[in-house]
Amino acid sequence: MDKRCLRYGILSLLLLSVGLFPATGSAAPQGRYTVLIDAAHGGGEPGVVSEKIREKDLTLGLALLIRQEAQKTGNIQVQLTRSADKEMAVAERIKAIEAQKPDCVLSLHVNAGFGKKAAGYEVYFPGFRQTAAGGAESAAIIKDMAVNRHLNDSVRLAQPIQAALETVFPRKGRGLRDAPSPLLEGVSLPGLVVEVAFLTQPDEKKKLTNAETQKAIARALVKGLREYFQSTP
Ligand SMILES: [Zn+2]
Repeated sequence: MDKRCLRYGILSLLLLSVGLFPATGSAAPQGRYTVLIDAAHGGGEPGVVSEKIREKDLTLGLALLIRQEAQKTGNIQVQLTRSADKEMAVAERIKAIEAQKPDCVLSLHVNAGFGKKAAGYEVYFPGFRQTAAGGAESAAIIKDMAVNRHLNDSVRLAQPIQAALETVFPRKGRGLRDAPSPLLEGVSLPGLVVEVAFLTQPDEKKKLTNAETQKAIARALVKGLREYFQSTP
């Protein structure tokens, strides 16, 4: 090998290593996140039904759209508890979530009211049930601390999710609620139950069954998730 050849050899080796190990100071790689989207109901359990429109189909359609939309972000991967019209017990969903170890969970539902008036989106999660600290086993205290941390994250997640839904359903927020959720109580993760809108309210039914609005809901939820991860310390 002559000198010139050697020089080019070293030069290309240098260029290669610069490519492999970018100089410090360049943008840090984006964090990668996994979100579990749970399409509620399925199979023989249709959820809310209004004139042949079934909650189980709406939640599945939205879950698939969210997965598609999340692919565009490059750093948020969406896993689903179900990707077909399949009945799943809560225990089975919990098992699926635990196997996938996502960073957070959104369980999608569509609401029903007694009349046609109830409208709007609703976000809820089970509250922290305070147990008497005195005499508690240390394992129980540690578990409580973990639950508490997930609750803080759930509240933090609720904010951008509500703001995102507000863009699709303006002035329709029904607030952040504390309600039991066997699914979320069964997993030790930040998560929310999202009741997207009321299938029993004529205007919202129109929106829920409109392909463009469905895409807008999916886009909005992914935007909310992105903001949540961006603000994650
Ligand atoms: Zn439901």
